[in-house]
Amino acid sequence: MPEGHTLHRLARLHHKRFAGGVVRVSSPQGRFADGAALVDGHVLVRAEAWGKHLLHRYESGLFVHVHLGLYGTFTETAGPLGDPVGQVRMRMIGTGRAEGPLWGTDLRGPSACEVLHEPEVTALTTRLGPDPLRRDADPDRAWHRIHRSARPIAALLMDQSVVAGIGNVYRAELLFRHHISPHRTGRALHRDEWDEMWTDLVDLMRLGVRRGKIVVVRPEHDHGAPSYAENKPRTYVYRRTGDPCRICATPIHHTVLESRNLFWCPTCQPDGEQATG
Ligand SMILES: [Zn+2]
Repeated sequence: MPEGHTLHRLARLHHKRFAGGVVRVSSPQGRFADGAALVDGHVLVRAEAWGKHLLHRYESGLFVHVHLGLYGTFTETAGPLGDPVGQVRMRMIGTGRAEGPLWGTDLRGPSACEVLHEPEVTALTTRLGPDPLRRDADPDRAWHRIHRSARPIAALLMDQSVVAGIGNVYRAELLFRHHISPHRTGRALHRDEWDEMWTDLVDLMRLGVRRGKIVVVRPEHDHGAPSYAENKPRTYVYRRTGDPCRICATPIHHTVLESRNLFWCPTCQPDGEQATG
């Protein structure tokens, strides 16, 4: 599933290519036909992301809300666009920019694509935790939830109501980078540990937006061991089950926590409370 940096990158791209002009919106597949009719021919004011949610705001006050889920993708094409291929839920075509090509984008396979009114968007973003990629993010809101929770920190980091935008890769890699056992409870985490993790997360995810990919292994730990699959990021622990830890050579462990794969190094991330500092 795409993590938050992918959605923020998409939001920036859509903002640059479509905002400020009228867009034509349709649903070649038909499942979003009613929603598309509500925004078709209107001016797109801005595109923004909150965690893994993409929001297109229209001058009329309506929003198109997209969640890609596991299978959703946008395909961006310089116009004119050909006939839709496959199950295109939403097609958006820019019309209002004088210079450059008129861009179009086809959305396929999202878990959500719907028109929302402002109060519904407010309800959505209120349910979400702070997003490290948003300037308005308040890490205290996440800490408030974490420090009183008996759930493992690895589960809390994946809970979008605690922090919005983290997925399985950033979760595993962040915990490794801070030598924190994924099984430590939220309430056993120290405030300074959380502050350091948050600062690092902001840096990592911003780097992810800039580079268009996840970058988490520090250069001094990257001795050439390949990534877990072609065109995938090099990781410390994510999908490296049984491979030697890049720092201590202990085989990486794997378990399933709340239905999601979890990876960690039992030596670098020992169980139990650790001394800080
Ligand atoms: Zn290790």
